[in-house]
Amino acid sequence: MRLAVLKERRAGETRVAATPETVKKLRSMGLDVAVEQGAGLASGFPDSEYAAAGAEMEPDAAAALAGAGIVFAVRAPEAPLPRGTMLIATLGADADATRRYAEAGVEAASMELLPRITRAQSMDVLSSQANLAGYRAVVEGAAAFDRGFPMLMTAAGTVPAANVFVMGAGVAGLQAIATARRLGGRVSATDVRPAAKEEIKSLGASFVGYEDEESRQAQTAGGYAKQLSAEFYAKQAEVVAAHIAKQDVVVCTALVQGRKAPTLVTKAMVANMKPGSVIVDIASDAGGNCEETRPGEMHVTENGVKVLGWTNWPARIPAAASALYARNLLTFLSTFWDKEANAPKLPPEDEIVQGVTLTRGGAVVHKNFA
Ligand code: NAD
Repeated sequence: MRLAVLKERRAGETRVAATPETVKKLRSMGLDVAVEQGAGLASGFPDSEYAAAGAEMEPDAAAALAGAGIVFAVRAPEAPLPRGTMLIATLGADADATRRYAEAGVEAASMELLPRITRAQSMDVLSSQANLAGYRAVVEGAAAFDRGFPMLMTAAGTVPAANVFVMGAGVAGLQAIATARRLGGRVSATDVRPAAKEEIKSLGASFVGYEDEESRQAQTAGGYAKQLSAEFYAKQAEVVAAHIAKQDVVVCTALVQGRKAPTLVTKAMVANMKPGSVIVDIASDAGGNCEETRPGEMHVTENGVKVLGWTNWPARIPAAASALYARNLLTFLSTFWDKEANAPKLPPEDEIVQGVTLTRGGAVVHKNFA
């Protein structure tokens, strides 16, 4: 069976869905691997390394797709896929596109819908990418901050440590806390899920937040935060506002699955921050946690606060993000690989398969789009 790896075409997408390392492993599973020329360039993997790993290099998407039974991609490919192709990518919650896959006879699997269960951890693209995004957010925040993170005691005087506040302590937020601590910042963090408080403390950060009966029930069975009431958010804002005014760097990572990101930092809070402070908003793909965030941009507010609102943060650390993403896809495929048939075998009753499968046999089968 032939597996195609396409060059990503969405603006700013620097990642690639297979690396020379995973191509080698796919080849050892018995697959022929076709890679579109230049697919790995933006993430630092030249064509020569794919060829050395056993890939056939193809001049364009159509040539890579010819005869392919499986397509690996980061985002939805633009090129039409042959009928019967299995597409494994992050396809977003796009009902129209899902219907089009069904009509075109494409078997589409969207990896960000993977259930967050132990068995699926090694295929979990949300976790692998969020982890790197959290790291990168702090590194970029530190670079944009015009002082330093650690307390620096020199003969010429002392530079105080930076106060870093991480909002949302899921996968990205916990990595942001750890990274800011390693750089020497004084780190605090907030979240609404009760379990997060202990995780924040275990990383050596202090917890700042509002808790009540509602927040004690703030976690869904899937481990995500629930959408909470306007009253809760108002209380949370009250607690957080005074704290934010004293922060040098605020890293925003809070998300509520399937919704716009919650607004946690208002314009008024930003107006109270010191000039030179930095807000890094990696929730920007979902609209951002800060009212001042302009998704896709960096700008400086009237009172001199830098707001880093870039979208697609994993693409800002593309070699590592691609390496982990590619391994997630490889693990998914090899878990459901039928060696004898030399083809994937996805049992429809399997929890992971059910979680990611959008379309099968020309029909939309995912519960989100039923
Ligand atoms: P996420 O990206 O959906 O959200 C990021 C964080 O924002 C979450 O911690 C959430 O609680 C927080 N948040 C939401 N609203 C907030 C608010 N108003 N104020 C402050 N914080 C707010 O979450 P995630 O990183 O994908 O992780 C979600 C959960 O899944 C976590 O419990 C994580 O440990 C768990 N998880 C489990 C597995 C597994 O077992 N396979 C894998 C990954 C994650």
